Amino acid sequence: MIKNITIRSNELEISQKIKKVIIEKFEKAGFTTSEDFHENTSLVISIGGDGSFLRAARELDFPDVPFFCINTGHLGFFAEILPDEKEIDYFIKSFIDEDYAVSLLPLLEIDISNEVHSEREYAINELVVRGNRSRTAHLQMFVNGNYMETFSGDGLIISTSTGSTAYNYSAGGSIVDNRLEIMQITPISPISTNAFRSFTSSIILPAFDSEITIKPEWKFDNMILLVIDGEEKRYQNITDIKTRQANKKIKLLRLDDYEFWNRVYVKFLKTYDYKENERRNNIK
Ligand code: NAP
Repeated sequence: MIKNITIRSNELEISQKIKKVIIEKFEKAGFTTSEDFHENTSLVISIGGDGSFLRAARELDFPDVPFFCINTGHLGFFAEILPDEKEIDYFIKSFIDEDYAVSLLPLLEIDISNEVHSEREYAINELVVRGNRSRTAHLQMFVNGNYMETFSGDGLIISTSTGSTAYNYSAGGSIVDNRLEIMQITPISPISTNAFRSFTSSIILPAFDSEITIKPEWKFDNMILLVIDGEEKRYQNITDIKTRQANKKIKLLRLDDYEFWNRVYVKFLKTYDYKENERRNNIK
């Protein structure tokens, strides 16, 4: 069967140019290409930033084929290459020769329930539970059924190790080596007074046997805001939100030189090379 490459891209001009180049090159090499996921899709290419990859994975319902990210966005923590023609040729050759590695990213499985109904969501980075309309969130938290705290503050982030470098890090959480399968609970502006007592630092749990339950306390408002990998949803009269590690994982295709801590150094500390980036973005 002829293999298909599914290509998702944001609307940036550079992304659209790259998409055209990738389509031409893959079709010349005997593949079909499409925007939708097909049963013969063997790879999903995401062109854009990390946000584009997170959206593509959600929209395609976390398929069981590898993703490959090309960064035309700002940070590009998930990306393997920049929009440079030589890098694209190297990637296509490596893919055809099967000369690559695949990283498995654990997903969070989130069950959101009210008195009568429950719905399931998945996250690559994190679940954020916040108060509606900037009100203080009051959230009872349990781990494996054991009461831990009643959090009061802006909200709680439950992050995977993949998401540890995203919102979790900005909120003061720790960067976690992505070989560790954990769930990190990071408070956003916790209140710690005589009136309300909350943990003020992150809590890290082993992902394989931990289930985190959050029960919102309704004081002024019965609405809560959940943000899953950046996508906002408001819910009314939720009884509980249960989060655990899912059985399925998302696959990321890695070229030979991927190393997590080097990626952290390059993306967080190394001085950004504007000239080099501009040169690479000048693809015809
Ligand atoms: P977004 O604009 O798509 O992303 C915000 C920033 O987070 C972007 O620079 C993005 O990279 C980067 N990012 C995403 N996942 C990352 C990861 N695993 N490691 C390191 N950086 C990562 O924002 P959005 O659409 O609202 O939400 C998408 C994600 O952004 C969320 O899952 C959340 O983690 C993160 N976020 C962060 C903050 C914060 O730091 N205060 C606030 C809201 C959301 P690109 O530039 O390559 O897209």
